[in-house]
Amino acid sequence: METDLKTLLRKHGVQLTKAYGQNFLTDQDLLAEIVEKSAIDSQTAVLEIGPGAGALTRAISQKAKKVIAYEIDTRLKPILEETVGDRKNVQVVFKDVMKEKLSVLEDKLGEDYVMVANLPYYITTPIVMNFLENSSRIKALVIMVQKEVADRFTAKEGCSDYGAITVGINLRGSAKEILYVPREKFTPAPNVDSAVVKIDIDKEKFSGVDLKKVREVVKCAFGNRRKMLVNNLMNFYKIKREQAEKALLDSQISLTARGETLSALDFVNLANNLG
Ligand code: SAM
Repeated sequence: METDLKTLLRKHGVQLTKAYGQNFLTDQDLLAEIVEKSAIDSQTAVLEIGPGAGALTRAISQKAKKVIAYEIDTRLKPILEETVGDRKNVQVVFKDVMKEKLSVLEDKLGEDYVMVANLPYYITTPIVMNFLENSSRIKALVIMVQKEVADRFTAKEGCSDYGAITVGINLRGSAKEILYVPREKFTPAPNVDSAVVKIDIDKEKFSGVDLKKVREVVKCAFGNRRKMLVNNLMNFYKIKREQAEKALLDSQISLTARGETLSALDFVNLANNLG
């Protein structure tokens, strides 16, 4: 398949570009494992971001109900035509996904969906945050990220990897690493190993809670993560020490706590008690 990819690229005169993070997967067993661990079945609508040469798209389309795939690089059009053109349940949209309105994208899907993305690392976090914060239709996100980012997404409270993104995920659901992918599985091989993380959304989790307000407290707590939370609260909300301490005590959080020790539930309680 590696040869197939090289043949395809040569045939269509396409040179992969770092600018779009074009490191492609070719190992059929690995692709099948990603799809299997994503729990995609014939009832699942899939939003794929960055189909590339279509290897993962094809593997997904063989299991899924339908796939809407966003690809920024129009040079890949003839290649995708060749690799997934015969798949009736695949629609490729040639557009920067960052420039697509969520409502337009979700209208195309027309139902709840699972996102699958193997993206350049620099846009992964903004994309994940955007869907976590603004989508009510997403059921799960299956994302390939560099191993260090996977550790951040799945970190437990109190670890150095635990941060605003971890809490952001835990406010909507939970994340787990489902697959480790060494760098040599990509063509060309990047400088880092990767992992696939699956974030399952639990629509009932914290339903009725003003998550916007909670995210503001999270931002405040991690804005200066080495500082004690009480000081961050005073600075951010321009409140007196007594007020900040009362909110912490009412939330059963230690007065000397730092943001990195708080669970998503602690943040919800704290946002409530800050009034
Ligand atoms: N899914 C393929 C695979 O696993 O082999 C390709 C993955 S490659 C790491 C990332 C793909 O995302 C490339 O095809 C790139 O052109 C595309 N891409 C990068 N930025 C994008 C964006 N903003 N919107 C849509 N696609 C993008």
